[in-house]
Amino acid sequence: MADVKASPEAQLRLLELADLDAELGRLDHRRRGLPEHAELSELEQRDRELRDEIAALEATEGDLKREQGKAEADVEQVRSRITRDRARLDAGQVSSPKELENLQSEIESLQRRQSDLEDVELEVMERREAAQARLAEAREERKRVAADIQSATARRDEILAELAEQSGKAADRRAAVAAEEPADLMDLYEKLRAQHGGVGAAALRRGQCQGCHLSLNTVDLNAIRAAAPDEVIRCEECRRILVRTAESGL
Ligand SMILES: [Zn+2]
Repeated sequence: MADVKASPEAQLRLLELADLDAELGRLDHRRRGLPEHAELSELEQRDRELRDEIAALEATEGDLKREQGKAEADVEQVRSRITRDRARLDAGQVSSPKELENLQSEIESLQRRQSDLEDVELEVMERREAAQARLAEAREERKRVAADIQSATARRDEILAELAEQSGKAADRRAAVAAEEPADLMDLYEKLRAQHGGVGAAALRRGQCQGCHLSLNTVDLNAIRAAAPDEVIRCEECRRILVRTAESGL
């Protein structure tokens, strides 16, 4: 690789390649870092939480509905026994004082039981109403989350399409530039690019490597001045291909 030679034109094209690679890197970085990704992942998480909560609330509400039905039936049963006992009492069917006392005491006990059962019924109704209210809230929130997911997805897709278009154009330009480069120079550039954080070549501008911003000393600059134009020079500091331009200060 050390003896790769390339025309000054081919070397200058490396700077264009490096710019295009930097642009592609920026576009990729932007694509991966879109705030919509985090926003969507939060919204989807919330949607899953709400879906689970709604399923649990629906099950609870169903249980409470059955419980309420049972409580109502229990109350109704006691109520009709009281009505029956009262009817017997009112009809004067019971004559023995002992039986009368028993019947009255049964009615009192049934009334206490009715009151207890009504408390149970009321408590179940309140719990069911609370579950229904929370269920309605959760369903509303899930609708809002779904709308937010839809709009964030649309926004994300729009930006992604825009970035994909820009990337496509840059990739096409890059392919066209790369096609003009000699294979050995291209191999060296790609190898350096893989080693040095996506940048394989940099301009020498006013005696400074634009890749690592090292200012070359007089000895190095003199060596570059003396080098043949087709010699491929490397930065001593960052090892990138150092491309001589009109602004190199040589
Ligand atoms: Zn450098």
